[in-house]
Amino acid sequence: MSEPALCCTPARLDWSQPGGPRASDFGDVYFSVEDGLEETRSVFLKACGLPEAWKNQPVFTVGELGFGTGLNALGLWQLWREHGNRDGWLHLVSIEKHPLTRADAERALSAWPQLETLSRQLLTQWPSLFKGPHRLVFAEDRFSITVFQDEAEAALAQMGIAADVWFLDGFAPAKNEAMWSQTVLDHIGRLSRQGARIGTFTVAGAVRRGLAAAGFEVSKQPGFGRKRERLEAVYAGAGAGRERHEAPVVIYGAGIAGASLAYALRKRGRAVRLIDPDGIAGGASSAPAGLLTPRLEKADRPHVRATLAAFDYACRLYSPLAAFRQSGVTRLAKDEKEATRLAALADLMGEGYRFDGEALEMERAGWFDPVNIVRALIGEVRVDCEGRAEAGEVIIHANGPHFSLEGDITPSAGRVGVFGGVAPERPLSWGGYLAPVPGGDVLMGATHINGWEAGEDMDAMRGFHSALLKLRPELAEEIEAEPKSSWAGVRASTPDRLPVAGRLDNGDYVLSGLGSRGFAHAPLLAEQIASQICGEALPLEHAGAQAFKPQRFAERRARRVQS
Ligand code: SAM
Repeated sequence: MSEPALCCTPARLDWSQPGGPRASDFGDVYFSVEDGLEETRSVFLKACGLPEAWKNQPVFTVGELGFGTGLNALGLWQLWREHGNRDGWLHLVSIEKHPLTRADAERALSAWPQLETLSRQLLTQWPSLFKGPHRLVFAEDRFSITVFQDEAEAALAQMGIAADVWFLDGFAPAKNEAMWSQTVLDHIGRLSRQGARIGTFTVAGAVRRGLAAAGFEVSKQPGFGRKRERLEAVYAGAGAGRERHEAPVVIYGAGIAGASLAYALRKRGRAVRLIDPDGIAGGASSAPAGLLTPRLEKADRPHVRATLAAFDYACRLYSPLAAFRQSGVTRLAKDEKEATRLAALADLMGEGYRFDGEALEMERAGWFDPVNIVRALIGEVRVDCEGRAEAGEVIIHANGPHFSLEGDITPSAGRVGVFGGVAPERPLSWGGYLAPVPGGDVLMGATHINGWEAGEDMDAMRGFHSALLKLRPELAEEIEAEPKSSWAGVRASTPDRLPVAGRLDNGDYVLSGLGSRGFAHAPLLAEQIASQICGEALPLEHAGAQAFKPQRFAERRARRVQS
């Protein structure tokens, strides 16, 4: 049986008509051929009572069906910039089954020169085709977009939001039934706050009846352009709630987990401080260099979606930083079997992943200077070497294996060697890995030893060089065989090798168990925890969050005892 693809099928566009692209598979337009931006303003923004509706709201959430070209997103963002709530945060959570490629989106959005500043920023962060949610953050404007790339019903079933308004912008119901099914409309009701408003261009009878059955009061309004009528609706039910913790936050641990949390909270204007006896990046986050690569797995499973989205998010977050170089990384195959696996992965992972007969080339991957990434994320946040949480503070445990989660998080020590010589332009991995060290030298690693002690193990360091000599002799010859020095750190490991992120039963939060992938996974998981604390739309699917929740090990043990 073939694996379900990890990527969505991109939209097929027909540009032959004036007035913007049409979707070839639906025979419909993305926006009004008369004036798409004015349609956005009239049918969605004004219909939903914006900008007045977000006044005095610390968090405002817009749900959208059909992200398309992102035109509605830009219209919303522009209104927020002009009439936003300075202390608030605006979230757009949108759904898209057939994402546009960046090139198509750029072509479509070029029709709106007045939105150019915003479209440029959106296009810089434009998501890859991986299925599942992608969070884009525009921190200066206190605005984020989460695009769930999936079938509408499946995406809504996985969302954690309490929406204030909805833009229903699927193609016309007659051409696109799946977008307007009763299940879809019921989910919209379930995910709405009391009084949530809907704007949509259609007045189809099935949509009116469906919305009423989902708990909305529906009214017809004069339509935009050539359309005679459109719909507005208001949620009449009790509504979804959101829990928000206002207290200051204290984070134990100033490595990449703590730094990512500090960043996510400080950009939201939250009072936050870090406590770490070893100071900034004193633990496993202080290696001389690191590689940023995605976790390679073929199956379309919730944790795979989440880790791929986390990798993409980390790339977006680090790319403006001097401490990150998006050089691409080459993953070598050790043998025929691995070559076959990597070739299959390249097909499943789509754009940016290519198998060249010997190796998997990962264009979005790169290498970084760990300490300077951590410093950049912590910014001005206070770091204390000692101290403890005070009464009332929200506590987050992000101190790796020092927080044991009753034995489920364990230490895994590792050593890397630093070698004289010349690193290739593009770093490599093969099970072991090679990365340039900022300022010269080459790092190769790493060992994995259960417990706190990595041991001296210089033979293992020489072994990394011999492994490279077998795989790429011409590169190994540029690097000295004897290491100049070595560095050891202790990772946090879990029984299922997946991270731990979420709320504990005592009300504290934890972000740990990141293994060797802290720099790839911590930023998005920190977004998830910051969103939970602030009562905002969550960036992970429900099933992804379940795969990382701290209680999973205890629950599995309890199930084993019962069976
Ligand atoms: N709001 C968009 C904009 O600003 O450009 C236009 C949206 S366009 C009218 C409708 C979108 O719904 C398309 O991008 C289409 O791919 C998406 N779509 C259609 N059927 C879907 C489904 N069943 N699940 C998720 N998305 C779907």
